[in-house]
Amino acid sequence: MAFSDRSGHTAGDAGSVESWLISAGRDRRPGSPLNVQPCPASNFVLGDHRAYARDDGTPGWEALEEITGGLEGGASVAFASGMAGIAAIFDQLPTGSVVALPDDCYQGVAALAQAGQGRGRWTVCRVGVADTAGWIEMCAVADLIWIESPSNPLLAVADLVSICAAPRKPGAILGVDNTFATPLNQRPLSLGADMSVQSVTKFIGGHSDLLGGVVTVRDPNHFAALRHARELLGATPGTLEMFLAVRGARTLAVRLERAQNNAMTLAQRLARHSGVTLTRYPGLPSHPTHEIARSQLKGFGTIISFDVRGNAADAEAVCAGLQLIQHATSLGAVESTLERRAGIPGQEHLPPTLLRLSVGIEAVEDLWADLDRALRDGTAV
Ligand SMILES: *Cc1c(COP(=O)(O)O)cnc(C)c1O
Repeated sequence: MAFSDRSGHTAGDAGSVESWLISAGRDRRPGSPLNVQPCPASNFVLGDHRAYARDDGTPGWEALEEITGGLEGGASVAFASGMAGIAAIFDQLPTGSVVALPDDCYQGVAALAQAGQGRGRWTVCRVGVADTAGWIEMCAVADLIWIESPSNPLLAVADLVSICAAPRKPGAILGVDNTFATPLNQRPLSLGADMSVQSVTKFIGGHSDLLGGVVTVRDPNHFAALRHARELLGATPGTLEMFLAVRGARTLAVRLERAQNNAMTLAQRLARHSGVTLTRYPGLPSHPTHEIARSQLKGFGTIISFDVRGNAADAEAVCAGLQLIQHATSLGAVESTLERRAGIPGQEHLPPTLLRLSVGIEAVEDLWADLDRALRDGTAV
């Protein structure tokens, strides 16, 4: 679309997303550095298009916005974090709005929605991720239809094609948290969603060394409103973070491919392990929404949630027994991380022995050896 990037290029022009990830967001004027530099400046000499960084951005934000805009097929607005972008979307809602929220989603979004409801700003209706009829019903009445697919941490896949095609209340926003899929596995805007959100902190950054977010939209009015919200809420990304995010984005395709292959192997083996009672991974035929995942996602992602045999203490023992896999929160990085989600405030409703594993790019046999040993030691099987 015409307003999606500075250069007029799109991901399609580069031939493939892999090439776009490498080529987009560069200054091609002779003598320019190949990579956009960090630009530690709050203000600029007046007379050109940049006066103050909170309003007008820095070259680093724009480079990331060009990259993600091309990937998602829209115009991107970079934020200080994924939550900053999501909060800016919620901030658009008129008082008295209805928000449709998945029953399984990122806990920060659930807390944000809960807090706004508590202050009388909106009413929240929770819908099962896989309850397509429920979503279609909500599309007719909700002002914000918020979908996360695959969902965190149960990895349920929503039927985005059917939900996006359903008639919506005039003025309603359908937003998709696309963090777990990444724009390489799923492009919600092409299915008819209004907004797609990435926590850049996760896969795009990919190295657990920054916080960032990006919202990509199709409608120029949404684009203007989100830029305005970023300015007024001060939800601006840091210049070093955007430099790191662009650097991370360059390798997204190879990291994702490798980690996804690792995840499939580990999920298949975990599903057969005597120390595991349930393995959730959209790529397993046993997964409740595997068929939708197969038809809708290019790849099944790198996150696996599995239940350890025994109790919460056994599951904690597995976490403590790992040597290669990091006992840490978050996901989408080069290193594998694992944690017991029910141990986190606000997540007590989850199965007490559920471990969420974000699979990284280590050698898969080393990962398996680490998991297998920790499971045997932790669950005494
Ligand atoms: C991490 C995450 C967020 C929030 O992103 P931050 O960058 O931590 O603010 C939102 N949604 C999902 C699915 C996430 O994993």
